[in-house]
Amino acid sequence: MRLRNIRGSEQVIEDSPYVIKSATEQKGKWQQLFQNNNPIMIEIGMGKGNFITTLAKENPQNNYIGIEKYTSVLLRAVQKMETDPVENLRFICIDAKLLGEVFALHEVSKIYLNFSDPWPKDRHARRRLPSKEFLKLYGEILKTDGVLEFKTDNRGLFDFAVEEAPLAGWDIHKLTYDLHQDTEMNQGNIMTEYEEKFSAKGNPICKYIIGQGNSKKE
Ligand code: SAM
Repeated sequence: MRLRNIRGSEQVIEDSPYVIKSATEQKGKWQQLFQNNNPIMIEIGMGKGNFITTLAKENPQNNYIGIEKYTSVLLRAVQKMETDPVENLRFICIDAKLLGEVFALHEVSKIYLNFSDPWPKDRHARRRLPSKEFLKLYGEILKTDGVLEFKTDNRGLFDFAVEEAPLAGWDIHKLTYDLHQDTEMNQGNIMTEYEEKFSAKGNPICKYIIGQGNSKKE
């Protein structure tokens, strides 16, 4: 994602009640923040937030937390929340590598990764969000029957992700190399900003759903 230094974005984020600043203090207590017992679902690398905002509006029975590394990107989602608040949605501005400091063991019910940065150089493979190193981290915060959904148009990154999943002890439940032509997997699909852009160019979208030991294949 192209990053521009948007003046004042840090102050807007700092002042917004929708961005949880003391995220480590919420560890193990996220349901209390939402004042209910609903499942916690997270998107890592949410960008401008169209996907998670729509998902949260469509599913008031769940709590959603969008995670984004850069304030300049998160700003757009925060501004939308100011004009159209979504009760079951909050944001955290952190690097995904800190997830274990923010969520307790098995606190999260579902994880979404959408169009994660490909980091094409081999020496940067560990930075890719579907890498086995990150999958191990996700495995700790995710419920044992929880699943992770990943979409991308980048075939190289997707092939890498498919190879990494079993290495980190995950099972692939469902997989497609052309989501928009797969009637079953595309049902209820919410497009992300990148998905809109790259599918308009004719790129097929790859998607998998993976889980650990206790998760069920539907
Ligand atoms: N998910 C959005 C979409 O599909 O339109 C944005 C995709 S964009 C290519 C990847 C996003 O992930 C960027 O906003 C980037 O800042 C964020 N990101 C990359 N690495 C991250 C990390 N380690 N922790 C949190 N966010 C990260």
